[in-house]
Amino acid sequence: MSAGNARSSAVMTDFDGTLSEIVDDPALARPLPEATEALNALAPVFGVVAVVSGRPLKFLRDSFPALDPAVRLVGMYGMERLEHGVVRLATGVDSWRGVVAQVAGEARAQVRGGVLVEDKGLSVTLHWRTSPAGMPWADGFARRVASKTGLKIQPGRMAVELRPPVGPDKGAVVEELASGCTAACFVGDDEGDLAAFAALDRLAAGGARVVKVAVGAVESPTALLAAADLVLESPRATVEFLKGLARTGRIAPEEAG
Ligand SMILES: [Mg+2]
Repeated sequence: MSAGNARSSAVMTDFDGTLSEIVDDPALARPLPEATEALNALAPVFGVVAVVSGRPLKFLRDSFPALDPAVRLVGMYGMERLEHGVVRLATGVDSWRGVVAQVAGEARAQVRGGVLVEDKGLSVTLHWRTSPAGMPWADGFARRVASKTGLKIQPGRMAVELRPPVGPDKGAVVEELASGCTAACFVGDDEGDLAAFAALDRLAAGGARVVKVAVGAVESPTALLAAADLVLESPRATVEFLKGLARTGRIAPEEAG
C-alpha cells in the first residue's frame, strides 16, 4: 500500500481496556508506557489518528503529555474534543452540567454496596468493579435517574454511566473523522464501542475498507466480539497492533498496493 493510501486512512482507538489496562480505581488508569510512542508513530503515516474515549478530555490530555499534536483526542464520546490544540464542546451538552452535578451529588449521598461514584462533569459513572454486590443498586439508581432527568444510560464494563441525551456517540465521531477515507479501523472493548463498529459498517457500505478490532477481555460484551474482524487479547497486544500499522502503513492485510 502506498503512503498516499495511508494518508486517506483513519486509525482510531478507545482508551480504557485498549491503550490502558482496566484498573480498580478509574482515576488511576494510565496508558501503557509504549502507547504514546505507538500513536506518535502512526501520526505521520495515516491521515487520521484519533483516541475516542468516554473519558473527559482533560484526563486524555493529561494521560498523553508527549503526544504528537496531529493525534486527535476526543473525550466524553465526542461531547468534548481537542483538534489542533483547540477544545470544542458539542452543541447542547453544556446545559446539562447542572443536572449532572445534581445527580452526582445524589449518587454520593445515596450510594450503597461499595459502588464508586465518578463525576466526569458532563456525565456520572457508577462503578462496581471492586464491589460487584453493588451492581443492583447502581443499575436501579441509573434507571430511576434516567427516567426522572432524561439523562441517557450508557452501559460499561462493571459500570453504568448517565450522560446527556444530546451530542454525538462514538459512532458519529468515527463517521465524521473517517469521512472521505478509503480505509478505517477502530479498536474497542466495551458497549460504547459498538456504535463505532456500526459506523465502520456504514463506511464499508460506502466502499471503504474497514477493520473492527475488539480487545477480548473476559467481560468484553459478546456482541462486540461477535462483530469484530479481529480480536486482540490485551492492551499490550493493542499497542503492538498499532505499532504494526505504523510500520506497514496498512490497515487491512488484503489491501491492494
Ligand atoms: Mg474501553
